[in-house]
Amino acid sequence: MSSDLVIVYHRQPYEEVEENGKIVFKENSSPNGIVPTLKSFFGGVDHGAWVAWKLAEDTSNPGFEQVVEISDSYGDYSVSRLPLTADQVREFYHVTSKEAFWPILHNFRERYNYDPVDWPNFRQVNWAFAEAAAAEAAPGAVVWVHDYNLWLVPGYLRQMRPDVRIAFFHHTPFPAADMFNVLPWRKEIVGSLLACDVVGFHIPRYSSNFVSVARSLFDVDEIVRERVEEDFISEGTALTERSVPIELVHNGRRVHISTAPVGVDVDYILKQSDRPETATKVEEIKAEMGDRQLILSVGRTDYTKGGVDQLESFGRILRDNPDLRGKVRLMHVSVSANRNMTAYAEVQDAIEQTAGRINGQYGTFDWTPIALISRAVPFSELVAYYRAADVAWITPLADGMNLVCKEYVAARTDGDGVLVLSEFAGAAVEMGSAVITNAYSHRSMDSAILTALRMPEQERRQRMSLLRNVVQKYDIRAWGRMQKEAFDKAAETAKERDASRV
Ligand code: UDP
Repeated sequence: MSSDLVIVYHRQPYEEVEENGKIVFKENSSPNGIVPTLKSFFGGVDHGAWVAWKLAEDTSNPGFEQVVEISDSYGDYSVSRLPLTADQVREFYHVTSKEAFWPILHNFRERYNYDPVDWPNFRQVNWAFAEAAAAEAAPGAVVWVHDYNLWLVPGYLRQMRPDVRIAFFHHTPFPAADMFNVLPWRKEIVGSLLACDVVGFHIPRYSSNFVSVARSLFDVDEIVRERVEEDFISEGTALTERSVPIELVHNGRRVHISTAPVGVDVDYILKQSDRPETATKVEEIKAEMGDRQLILSVGRTDYTKGGVDQLESFGRILRDNPDLRGKVRLMHVSVSANRNMTAYAEVQDAIEQTAGRINGQYGTFDWTPIALISRAVPFSELVAYYRAADVAWITPLADGMNLVCKEYVAARTDGDGVLVLSEFAGAAVEMGSAVITNAYSHRSMDSAILTALRMPEQERRQRMSLLRNVVQKYDIRAWGRMQKEAFDKAAETAKERDASRV
């Protein structure tokens, strides 16, 4: 059955579990994250489709049904599972996307690894995604593609299906031309993105960077800019922009640029936060802490997250402020996602070594300065730590958005707690009421965490109240509405284009 909305996202929209020897599809056990929001769009169409990949030994005979029909609380939709071999996945995802694209997207030129990239494989996988999407899309459907590992899909799809409307959302940062153009495939990638009707980013800086990259590679005209809304100006911080491009014309086609920060599901977090089990856990954590302050840091193990730099800052403040020893504890959650990748294994080792050194240097029999946690903490438990932490210390060196800082704020229904946030996280443009820090500066890092630890209650509450307003206003549903508006604008443009042809 063809679909009016096709979502192309590398992960499947449900969990496949075996029950009594049969595979059953279940809604993701954690409704947190982007997947439920994307699925909620199926409620607005007669029939939707989702394209993802699934591991197969032999792609011509994968041993599973490629298209399955799902009916769940989000509606009726097909899921098209593109069979990929382990080698194809490794090449397209772990090598090309993570070793070549990821460092460039996050401005880590020195981490960029060109040599192992198998570009023909990347093209082939993207082509297969485009074919699967083309097979599902009804005439004039919206095909919504997500993230940089599918960069070539829009260009291929435009060739296969000139009638569909294509939207693309970047969940990462997008760098300026000086950095992006390190990629030798830049023209092919940007040419593909310019085949879209809508190209979406989190914040105005990334949209501006995209346009600057497009201008460096192609003739683009009629760039329309507008003033950035006050809510997205965090005065003087690194990622703030004062104007943002909203459309351009390339090869006679109008491309809409949409800027909308992904938010969190505030209602869900409130529910989690108000559970009696959460309150019990918070009491346990507080009892364990006694009169010590708890600093919480949560992120994935990735060089972009600045874990080692943060631990070093903690070591320096213990060195320089003996009165803090025994009085403060850092819970550093760094979830290692890709242990088999050298770059991530190195970061994990460095984090373990640094934390071990600081614990050895300052720890006592009854006080360990850093609790290092390398496994994922279930969200229901994480919320209790959010509520118990005096300070959330979120200091990535680069981060497309960062949802942990928004979750911390959403969970603080008590109105207390301090957020220290790196100005290099996309979230910083909305969250100027946090203690903003420059994650590349020792002095700024050390003084920000000290400011947070010593902040008087009235100031804590004032800042938290401002932050809570922003997180509530730009929650995940607001992001969904902004995406819908961008699709509608693109539909109008398509109508005008068709009318002018007649
Ligand atoms: N998270 C979690 N348990 C952990 C660590 C992280 O559930 O132990 C979740 C966290 O709640 C957040 C997500 O992982 O929703 C991380 O998203 P973020 O945007 O901050 O970072 P990303 O990993 O996408 O770069």
